[in-house]
Amino acid sequence: MSGREVAVPADARVWLIRAHNPSPMTLSGTNSWVVEVGGSVWVIDPGPDDAGHVDRLAAKARELGTPAGVALTHDHLDHSAGVELLAETLGGVPVLRYGNTVASPFAVRHTPGHAADHLVFWIGAEEQATLFSGDLVLGQSSTIVPPGGGTLIAYLESLKQLAAIGPSLILPGHGEPIEDGAAAVVAQREHRLRREADLRDALAERVYDREALLDRVWSDVPDSLRIAAHVTMQSHLEKLDLENDLPEDFEPEGRKSWQHRP
Ligand SMILES: [Zn+2]
Repeated sequence: MSGREVAVPADARVWLIRAHNPSPMTLSGTNSWVVEVGGSVWVIDPGPDDAGHVDRLAAKARELGTPAGVALTHDHLDHSAGVELLAETLGGVPVLRYGNTVASPFAVRHTPGHAADHLVFWIGAEEQATLFSGDLVLGQSSTIVPPGGGTLIAYLESLKQLAAIGPSLILPGHGEPIEDGAAAVVAQREHRLRREADLRDALAERVYDREALLDRVWSDVPDSLRIAAHVTMQSHLEKLDLENDLPEDFEPEGRKSWQHRP
């Protein structure tokens, strides 16, 4: 499959080419975006180390114009493993990633939360904005916010920044394009804050057992995503702990078991 063109409000041509790596975590596979702006072409997220996928991206990039660079939303392997091969295949083009700012047609913002090195890219101003959100906002289901160093606090702040950008269209790292992106970002943030409120209520009622907490607050999550929900709950507990908002008698062993996870 050579992908499909996605209509965007900005003055650009955008193709979605999805990698063949479906899983509960990558949904239907990683989205690679081939973006032509003013004749120069960038690929956002080359995806896994898959020569066939990289070839499809390179062919589309050449078809649309002059390949000018590769941009990485974050360094998770389902997005980044193919980066060297693609940059080389495109003739040694530069790689725009966290810590390596190179000239590009994109506005760039550091948006930690899902990953410490996470960036988002956008083209077009205000109502025209088309935002490549990586894994900060997904086209279906909510993203993983792994615990460690207050990542959920950073994630909620990053969502606030996205809302301020006010994208018209969000093109995520997994799943389908999201129309009315600004509203989707606000909804994501409210969803997290609602979970937090439910978690506080459960803790106030001394529901301290972790499985019981999960059953109560994440009752809508299917079994296939229960481990992911565990990780998310750990991030919420960590946030409450950092904000000194856990009950005094919340089991210390319970804390240890999530604090010491990688
Ligand atoms: Zn991903």
